[in-house]
Amino acid sequence: MYYDIIIIGAGTAGLTASIYARRAGKSVLLIEQENFGGQIVYSPLVENYPGIASVSGNAFADSLLTQAEALGAVTELAAVTGVSKAPDGTFTVQTEYGDFTAGALIAATGASHRKLGLEREEELTGSGVSYCALCDGAFFKGRDVAVAGGGDTACQDAVFLAGLCRKVYIVHRRDQFRAEQRNVDMLKALPNVELVLNARVTELKGAGELTGVNVTDTLTGAVRALDVAALFVAVGQIPATALFSGMLELDGRGYIVAGEDTCTGVPGVFAAGDVRTKSVRQLTTAAADGAVAATAACRYLRENGR
Ligand code: NAP
Repeated sequence: MYYDIIIIGAGTAGLTASIYARRAGKSVLLIEQENFGGQIVYSPLVENYPGIASVSGNAFADSLLTQAEALGAVTELAAVTGVSKAPDGTFTVQTEYGDFTAGALIAATGASHRKLGLEREEELTGSGVSYCALCDGAFFKGRDVAVAGGGDTACQDAVFLAGLCRKVYIVHRRDQFRAEQRNVDMLKALPNVELVLNARVTELKGAGELTGVNVTDTLTGAVRALDVAALFVAVGQIPATALFSGMLELDGRGYIVAGEDTCTGVPGVFAAGDVRTKSVRQLTTAAADGAVAATAACRYLRENGR
C-alpha cells in the first residue's frame, strides 16, 4: 500500500507530524511498535506545555492520538524491520505484517530507557527494578524505595513516589542535578525524600525479588546499604535508531544527525523529536519538530512531483 508520508514512531513528534500532514491533505501511515503516545505516557504530570497548565502524560497522548485519527491518519501497531529507498525515490518500510511504500519518510522513533548495567538488573526487572515509576509505583505503597538519576525524570519520579511510599532515596552520581530547578526544589521540599549525592547504585540485592541496593560514594568509595523494596532507574534514554544505522548519519551517541529543519542527509527522510541531534528534548520541541518535519515532507513531495 502506498502513502504520501510514512511516519515511524507515534510519540508526540510523530503524532504531531501526522496532524500537520493530514491537514495538508497528504495520506499518512503512522507506524508504532509499542504504545501510541510514546514516552510522555509515563509522565504523571505535564506542567510545562504552553496553554495547558496541568495534564497527565496519558491524557495528553490520548488527546493527540484522537486528534490524529480523527483527521484520517492511518495507524498501525507493528515493529518496523527494515527501511530502504528505491531508485525511483520511493521508500519501502518493512514490518512484521507486510511492506508499505511512501514518497517521504519521517523518523520519529524516540528513545528507550538506559539501563544501569548492573549484574542481575535484567533478572530483577519487574521484581523490584523498574524503569517506570508511574506504572509500578503503586506496587510499593508504604514501602521504602530508591530512584537512580538526577534529571527531570528522576526528580519527577521521586516526587511522585514520595506521595505513595514511606521513604524515597534519590541516588545521583554528582552533587548537582541536571533537572530543572523547579523540579529539584519540589524534591527538596519533601520530608520523606533523602538525597544520596555523589553516589552510584553498585549492587542489587535479593534472590528472585529485590530486597535492597548498595550504593557507593564516588568520592570516598564508602559503600552504604539501602533497604529498599524497589529501585526506579531514571538515567536517561538511548535513541531508537538501529533501524536507520545503514541509511542515515548518526552522531556519536546514536542520534540521527539533522538540524532544526529536520532534514537528514537522505532527501525525503526527516527526523523529528528525541531521536534527532538537538539540545533540548521536551514535549514542546517534539511537537515543534513534528510540525517542521511534516511541512518539510510536504514541500519535498511537491518539489518532486508527488
Ligand atoms: P537526562 O536529562 O538525560 O538525565 C539522565 C540522568 O541520569 C542524569 O542526571 C545523569 O547524570 C544520570 N545518568 C546517566 N547515565 C547514568 C549512569 N550510567 N549511572 C548513573 N546515572 C546516570 O534524562 P531524563 O531525566 O530522562 O530526561 C530526558 C529529557 O526529557 C530531558 O531533556 C528532560 O528535560 C526531559 N524531561 C522533561 C520533563 C518535564 O516535565 N519537564 C520530564 C521528564 C523529562 P549526569 O547529570 O551526571 O549526567
